[in-house]
Amino acid sequence: MPLPQVVAVAEHSPAERYGVWPGDELRSMNGQVPRDVIEYQLLADDSIVELEVVRGGVELEVTVVKQAGEPLGLEISAAIFDRVRTCDNHCEFCFIYQLPKGLRRNLYVKDDDYRLSFLYGNFTTLTRFTEIDLERVVDQRLSPLYVSIHATDPDVRSAMLRNRRGAISLRWLRCLLDRGIEVHGQVVVCPGVNDAAVLHGTLAGVLDRFPELVTVAIVPLGVSRHSKERTMRPHTTTEARLTVETVHEWQERFGRALGRKVVWASDEYYLLAGLPFPEPDEYEGFPQHENGVGMVRCFEQAFEAGGSQREDAVGVPARTGFFAWVEGAPAEGYRAPRTSRVTIAARPSASARDVPITILTGGYGSAVLRPLLDRHGFEKVRVLPVANEFFGGNIAVAGLITGADLARTLAEEPPGGRYLLPDVCLSKGRFIDGPSLDDLPLAVEVVGTDGASLRKLLEAAQ
Ligand code: SF4
Repeated sequence: MPLPQVVAVAEHSPAERYGVWPGDELRSMNGQVPRDVIEYQLLADDSIVELEVVRGGVELEVTVVKQAGEPLGLEISAAIFDRVRTCDNHCEFCFIYQLPKGLRRNLYVKDDDYRLSFLYGNFTTLTRFTEIDLERVVDQRLSPLYVSIHATDPDVRSAMLRNRRGAISLRWLRCLLDRGIEVHGQVVVCPGVNDAAVLHGTLAGVLDRFPELVTVAIVPLGVSRHSKERTMRPHTTTEARLTVETVHEWQERFGRALGRKVVWASDEYYLLAGLPFPEPDEYEGFPQHENGVGMVRCFEQAFEAGGSQREDAVGVPARTGFFAWVEGAPAEGYRAPRTSRVTIAARPSASARDVPITILTGGYGSAVLRPLLDRHGFEKVRVLPVANEFFGGNIAVAGLITGADLARTLAEEPPGGRYLLPDVCLSKGRFIDGPSLDDLPLAVEVVGTDGASLRKLLEAAQ
């Protein structure tokens, strides 16, 4: 396996004091070879850490003495040092099969690795999970994990995953729950496959077999124009409504049986169905915010608070999880930093205050933003939905806006205005299809996706 590399050493850290350099490759720690940043972190917590590193082809030993639990001060090149475990499924609805050719290589990685589930909240189907994995998860308390359920009927699940192991791999979910591991679930709903009666059966199966699941998110499939699956199609409005109704019905049943709602429909469903979003306090703390459940309500709350309160004071979940405390590795390739060019709201000169502002976003973002801006006195701010011709189909989320679509949209716009873009469109400063901000025909300002950043910027511009 390639050795993980030190990409940065924190100033005045124990690692710097004892002479670890950026560029060093990490061979072992206290005689053990860490397989990922989770094991790295556990080994780095010791008070004496004997590092075996390779520098310019030469092996060196560095012994770091520090307080137990004190960070070593290293940033490592990747989170998984051996190989990311890829999935052996071939789901009809898989978005990776719907990507056009020629995008960044890591976008085509079909990971199904419980470590990435723990680290980043990626969903795993457990079809490649083993007894050894279970032991490790339990020993190291890798909790919470995120599991794709899709259907509790074994035949439907194996057909959806196109993998016969899909019929039996939820037994691992039972094992995880039996051992006290917290698990969140997800059902990607494909109309005509696992909606309607099948979805009712799945939620009955959750209540019957997996009642310890903390939450289950119900999300619609995405269909791009590159899909080759004839049976995969977007939901109709009626189907979206029925799905939301099913979720509400089961929230009541779960509430009566377990005292909590458990299941939520993603925001996209409410937009598709033309139904109002649930009130913020109905989300029980937004546990599946990262999966698009309650994001709109969080955004609205933060926007309304105008950034004058702390995020968690308005119910927006601060990003928790492993990377809240790990020092080891950036979320390279999975949750990469958006960009370093996020606009900081500053009060502009009087002349700059007359400059028209346009917010560029996807179709869904536009549907949410327009009424919100109007309600708060920002009627003059324009919202411009960027049609997603690159992916086509029913893709309307801001996170999948491509550089090509944005360039086409901006080419029709007059210069001299301020154009704002949510940071979710970028990963490490690049759009999903490769271009960067510098490749656009007009200058755009990148704004943090929390509502507070946008509100501050708009207020400063008035
Ligand atoms: S499990 Fe996920 S990555 Fe694998 S084929 Fe299905 S949708 Fe794609």
